[in-house]
Amino acid sequence: MGLPCVPLLRALTAVAAALCLLLSRPCLAAEALETHLTVTGRSTIFELTMSEGVTAQVFTLANPYRVVLDLPDLVFRLDPATGKRGAGLVSQFRYGQFAERKSRIVIDTKGPVKIHSANMTRLKGSSAVKLAIALMPMDATAFGSGTGAGTESAAFEPGVDGDPIGAPDGPRKPHSRPVVVIDPGHGGIDPGAMGANSVTEKTIVLAVAQQLKQALEKAGLYDVKMTRSEDVFVSLDKRLKFSRDSGADLFISLHADSIEEKTAADNIRGATIYTLSGKASDEQARVMAEKENASDLLAGIEAYDKGNDDQVKNILIDLMKRETSNFSADFSQVLAKRLGKTIEMSRLPRRSAAFKVLKQTDAPSVLVELGYISNRTDEEQMLTPEWQSKVAGSIAEAVQIYFNKRTAARP
Ligand SMILES: [Zn+2]
Repeated sequence: MGLPCVPLLRALTAVAAALCLLLSRPCLAAEALETHLTVTGRSTIFELTMSEGVTAQVFTLANPYRVVLDLPDLVFRLDPATGKRGAGLVSQFRYGQFAERKSRIVIDTKGPVKIHSANMTRLKGSSAVKLAIALMPMDATAFGSGTGAGTESAAFEPGVDGDPIGAPDGPRKPHSRPVVVIDPGHGGIDPGAMGANSVTEKTIVLAVAQQLKQALEKAGLYDVKMTRSEDVFVSLDKRLKFSRDSGADLFISLHADSIEEKTAADNIRGATIYTLSGKASDEQARVMAEKENASDLLAGIEAYDKGNDDQVKNILIDLMKRETSNFSADFSQVLAKRLGKTIEMSRLPRRSAAFKVLKQTDAPSVLVELGYISNRTDEEQMLTPEWQSKVAGSIAEAVQIYFNKRTAARP
């Protein structure tokens, strides 16, 4: 079973590239201008109008059921409400930059669907094209895990995906200064939590991360690296790999939460620091880890059942990496103290759960939820550079205290 990926009008791209060469000037990215969903009989047609023809690939995934459309770098000039309302077989869709020079549209479907047809037609009297993908329902057994990412899957580094806890790659390189990896959560197609005034988590955490980098670099004692420094999607596995490859001595993942219920959104406030544990410290921590671990799914990366695998990995962490986890706890304690002096902390400021991005064998790591952007007061504060630099300053202080203690404890 399984439909192959559908290559579309490669010729058009070739012609466009040739034109660019001929005119010897850089070509502007194509623009996504409009989308439309049409329901006819049992099928639902997704249409995307673009300023020019591009090469696209479309495939399906299960758990949850999605249709993924991979495109080159597009400038999205779409109405802000685009994708929020579905029709027919489509419940909603989202779009954004997925990687360097790659855009992606992820269409959530109400059940398993097959790509009945996909074609791109030029609009009369212009260079614009319309891409139409017709979806038809199909039964779950025949759907299986979907058609998958095909050749595009190479971009996800399948050898790395799902195996962050495996054997570390040999002895770590010695380095003179401690390496601090800052990990601004989400990015690109994955906005993270949405605030009361439609501010996104990805924007706030990147701003804080940049300030933190500056604060740490000013101290001149650390090599500071960031898993992303712009609005681009980075998978959780790539974040882990980046940390490992950088030889991180400390890994700090930055996030901001939101709560949907209206009443809760007004009452719940404050920051929380999470460390890794196989068993969640409480229900809220468990839910939070589940939410953060879903980042890859939202961006259309294939899910697969890891069940027992995860258990084995947790045991590995327990046995082999007790030292790393002790250091994580040390840092979380110092950080809670410093942050508590600057910003409001949640009722239980230190919690733990099975966050995928914290599953690191060598680097002590924490995930900080800086506050709730669903709370209007928190959100407004978090948007100000003053608040961001205050928070970054406190985290930088905690980093210094932590490393001073470790150096002092050395024989
Ligand atoms: Zn997050």
